[in-house]
Amino acid sequence: MSQLSYADWQARAAGLEFRNQAFINGEFVPAASGKTFASINPATGDTLAHVAEGDAEDIDRAVAAARKAFDAGHWSRVAPGERKAVLLRLAELIRENLEEMALLDSLDMGKLVQDAVTVDAPGSAAFFQWYAEAIDKLYDEVAPTGPGDLALISREPLGVVGAVVPWNFPLDMATWKAAAALAAGNSVVLKPAEQSPMSALRLAELAAEAGVPEGVFNVVPGFGPTAGKALGLHNDVDCLAFTGSTAVGKMFQQYAGQSNMKQVWLETGGKSPNLVFADCQNLEAAADMAAFGIFFNQGEVCSANSRLLVEASIKDDLLALLVERAEATQPGDPLDPASKMGAMVDETQTQTVMGFIEKGKLSAQLVTGGERVQIDGKGCFVQPTIFDGVTPDQTIAREEIFGPVLAVTTFETEEEALSMANDSEYGLAASVWTDDLSRAIRVSKGLHVGTASVNTVDALSAMTPFGGVKQSGYGRDLSLHALDKYTSLKTTWIKYKA
Ligand code: NAD
Repeated sequence: MSQLSYADWQARAAGLEFRNQAFINGEFVPAASGKTFASINPATGDTLAHVAEGDAEDIDRAVAAARKAFDAGHWSRVAPGERKAVLLRLAELIRENLEEMALLDSLDMGKLVQDAVTVDAPGSAAFFQWYAEAIDKLYDEVAPTGPGDLALISREPLGVVGAVVPWNFPLDMATWKAAAALAAGNSVVLKPAEQSPMSALRLAELAAEAGVPEGVFNVVPGFGPTAGKALGLHNDVDCLAFTGSTAVGKMFQQYAGQSNMKQVWLETGGKSPNLVFADCQNLEAAADMAAFGIFFNQGEVCSANSRLLVEASIKDDLLALLVERAEATQPGDPLDPASKMGAMVDETQTQTVMGFIEKGKLSAQLVTGGERVQIDGKGCFVQPTIFDGVTPDQTIAREEIFGPVLAVTTFETEEEALSMANDSEYGLAASVWTDDLSRAIRVSKGLHVGTASVNTVDALSAMTPFGGVKQSGYGRDLSLHALDKYTSLKTTWIKYKA
């Protein structure tokens, strides 16, 4: 674990070098148009670098390089053990550069560097390692045919995988897509979010250093409606893996229909409920995790537990504990290891979140927070905010805020709790707090979500699939199930003389 002090992080930040060009076919190149865009540190407003602004032409170059590499077979057709060795080396390189990777994400999008160096960057290394270790242990199948017939069912890489990812966990979102897709033998063209391209560009460089052949992993920074759309519409992309908002996810479905019917996998928004029953013995733990579930990463988490549904008889007790925790989680400089919450990703997101807070003030009771703040007179920071008395029809109970804003609603019965929990267009995650085992099982079975956590929130690991139902998307990241997205099943039927 990193023991760097505030002064150490500041010194490292001052000396940091940024990779600011697209990474195509094994090298850094400027955008074909020559255009750049400013990458801004939301904690200070300072410009970190001017980054190549890729558009359709750059996407086309990257896809051509990816296709050429795939067809050449230096990655797609080598023994899985060879890919394993390279990806293990990449995991090692991420660990060797852990502090740099953490700093890139922190400066780029405002998250606490302490979280980035203990959660995000080690997570990226662990996910690459997990897929590297898995890939040479997967066997294909032989179908139970009769004599004279041999039918082999094998997993084949799809070809060129396009990945479009958001800014909330820049390195990890890039990793979730790239690690599984690369392990399976595909070539990848990744478009990071325009708010946070830095760690993905460095990751591409480390991948090349680890031995990923040229053209196999390309990163094109740029904006959604130009570079992202071009990847979605590209006729030589076999699969598009997306994480981001539901509205943009729907566009990718349309892009596929307007082009080559590429497979589209969507991990989109959420409005996850956290159900706390009166039979929960450890209210302190429930309060700790409810606070973590909404304030971690400034609430910019797709599976953030943004709706607290609490049994009416314990609401006052739980709320008092939560307010204490909210008040102890005030924002501070993301580079200071003592800070409890970082900056919002940018001015636009700050204003969006403040817009929701203003709406909340008109319809519910503001219990704590509710203000935008500055640190040293600068930056995009929002206080941890809790609204009580929220009814299920209010905007703050229905729409994804993607900020540190909790909506508290009470229920009287288990049926009412479940019905409120499922009354959402989203279905990404949910949590249940109870010490009644039967209730825990009953309620988690009744929740229409991708992940139900019992007596914890947001449980997640490389070993378990992550993704949603309803308008939270479909397809799964993480676990062996992610490989279903990046491979197709081929049947090879052979006649022989029995
Ligand atoms: P976003 O949808 O605006 O952007 C995501 C990506 O899509 C970015 O790379 C962006 O450049 C690109 N994009 C934007 N407009 C596009 C267009 N017209 N065509 C093609 N590409 C386009 O989302 P965001 O604001 O960056 O991220 C927040 C959203 O992501 C939230 O809704 C959150 O719930 C979701 N998210 C989901 C998960 C998950 O696993 N389910 C994880 C993290 C974030």
